[in-house]
Amino acid sequence: TPDARPLSDLSAQELHALAQTQREAHAAQAAKGTKLDVTRGKPSSAQLDLADPMLSLPSATTDRAGTDVRNYGGLTGLTELREIFAELLWVEPEQIVAGGNSSLTMMRDVLVDLLLFGAIDSPRPWAKEDKVTFICPVPGYDRHFALLEDLGIEMVTVPMTDEGPDVDEVARIAGSDPSVKGIWIVPTYANPTGAVVSHEVASRLAGMETAAPDFKIFWDNAYAVHHLTEDEAKSADIITLASGAGHPHRAVMFASTSKITWAGAGVAFLASSVEQVAWYLEHLGKGSIGPDKINQLRHVEFFGDADGVRAHMRKHAEIIAPKFAEVDRVLTERLGGLGVATWNRPTGGYFVNLDVLPGTASRVVALAKEAGLSLTPAGASFPHGQDPDDTNIRLAPTMPPMSELTEAMETVATCVLIAAAEQLGA
Ligand code: PLP
Repeated sequence: TPDARPLSDLSAQELHALAQTQREAHAAQAAKGTKLDVTRGKPSSAQLDLADPMLSLPSATTDRAGTDVRNYGGLTGLTELREIFAELLWVEPEQIVAGGNSSLTMMRDVLVDLLLFGAIDSPRPWAKEDKVTFICPVPGYDRHFALLEDLGIEMVTVPMTDEGPDVDEVARIAGSDPSVKGIWIVPTYANPTGAVVSHEVASRLAGMETAAPDFKIFWDNAYAVHHLTEDEAKSADIITLASGAGHPHRAVMFASTSKITWAGAGVAFLASSVEQVAWYLEHLGKGSIGPDKINQLRHVEFFGDADGVRAHMRKHAEIIAPKFAEVDRVLTERLGGLGVATWNRPTGGYFVNLDVLPGTASRVVALAKEAGLSLTPAGASFPHGQDPDDTNIRLAPTMPPMSELTEAMETVATCVLIAAAEQLGA
């Protein structure tokens, strides 16, 4: 708004008047009794519908090599599907495994294997160390942090920048503390900041000296192909960079089709050095004779090739880009120039990152709840759910229909204004 003045410049009287107007809007929204929800990054049903031709696939029962996909075997996943995603993720087909329906499960498997057995470059199993610590760029993906907490792995935070984690901080921590064994990175359209790791940051992560000889980068490329604009980010080739810097087993990459085809019935991928992939498969093979190859073949037939995936992703963008634009429109209209919130305009991924006045995020979430709007709990994007500044809120606009999204964002704006006015003394 051009004539908008920062709330901190308002007189006590003006601030009270503003708070009063917003409280009335809040009460009116609460009285409507509408239930709104922008908590989780789920695809909408219109997005899931895009993959519905898969419901009648596969048309064949054998893969390219002639193997019967209905039977046991093929732990690495279908070669033809691995080829498609190797191209999309910039790795070689022999470096990538196509597995079950969840990359998060693969991340957990790798962590558990590291704790129980250690990596091929580990002096001992991680569980035999006094302490294991992970570097967690914040804000980040809540489930990454919950997973570490569950396994007893300590977390040390570093700030996210527009180009990925603060890499000076990362290098300092990883270089000085041998208990620091790894880092989470969501390289493309990070959850929730939308940042894309630059080539420079990726090179530093790949080449930095670490106190632990078996330091791992968990490169979770969940949004590798999830562009919202023509300006398509290309993620750095971390495995080649690390290997070129003399750390061939440092990076483990994850991805999945959860937000490409179906979140509950996609295919997940793991890629790393050929040796580290063999290590993963050796342990995986004790608990599985092979993945769901019927689902994998269905995906191959549906996409055809990597361009098929790219074309499919443009259909997603057509559905969800207008939703991201709507979030920005409402927030700009209601909060622009008031000095009470900043947010990003992501060019891909699933989230909008909203920072409100320090100390007000939990109040905003509580106010929203009173008005019937579920927001992700304040602090969710930080280890142990604790945002030291109580400033960050993650918005997930993909799931609700447009009309509900507009109402939800209007409500967010109302709650941000009330919480800010309270903070400033209204
Ligand atoms: N990684 C990130 C960064 C995510 O945001 C999500 C889902 O929100 C996942 C992984 C989950 O992946 P999957 O469905 O393959 O388990």
